[in-house]
Amino acid sequence: MSFNIAIDGPAGAGKSTIAKRAARELSFIYVDTGAMYRAIALGLMRSGTDIEDEEALRQALEQTDVTISYENGVQQVWLNGQNVSDMIRTEAVSSMTSAIAAKPQVRAKLTGLQRGLAERENVLMDGRDIGTMILPHAQLKIYLTASVQTRAGRRYRELAERGEQCSLEEIAREIETRDYRDMHRETAPLKQAEDAVLIDSSEMTIEEVTDRIVQLARMRMA
Ligand code: C5P
Repeated sequence: MSFNIAIDGPAGAGKSTIAKRAARELSFIYVDTGAMYRAIALGLMRSGTDIEDEEALRQALEQTDVTISYENGVQQVWLNGQNVSDMIRTEAVSSMTSAIAAKPQVRAKLTGLQRGLAERENVLMDGRDIGTMILPHAQLKIYLTASVQTRAGRRYRELAERGEQCSLEEIAREIETRDYRDMHRETAPLKQAEDAVLIDSSEMTIEEVTDRIVQLARMRMA
């Protein structure tokens, strides 16, 4: 049987950086489910679909094919045969993603793909509903969070490094809006699973958080 680790938490808590490192140390496959939602958002933006029109959304989703692959251990996400891994990280896509991720039709499309991966492989999967909905039987669940200021500061530095213009206040506002939407939607809202270990990374380094998760995983696997 495969060993599954679920990491959930709000935007900018450091999930993907930490999940990638922990997965490498444990020789697990890292599955970034946010990238799958982002690819769908990009597809719907490109087709100009009115996501409030259920029938239009259904038809657009039928034409949207999202798959993932791995290159040197790094997840690549494909939209209708095109590798879109680098195109899905803009703030415009982030914002569209949290809007489309609230739609049950969109979530239903990705559930099978995510569960299938976890059945076959030892995965460390990150997202918003992994411990609560996708992998309720994961052997280890982590809820990773940090204060809004810390998260906004991290995102600000990330964007600045990539040369994108941004203001710290605007990023903090976007993070709060996204958190609110993700936590208050009807379908699969972001929340801590009852059996998840809570880690607040506000005052912790990436290495400290990674070590804690790796240590917890090793204890549970033993
Ligand atoms: O993790 P990331 O910031 O890439 O996720 C982008 C958006 O995708 C989130 O704000 C959330 O709305 C959505 N998402 C989700 N469920 C997941 C992963 C991401 O709803 N499992």
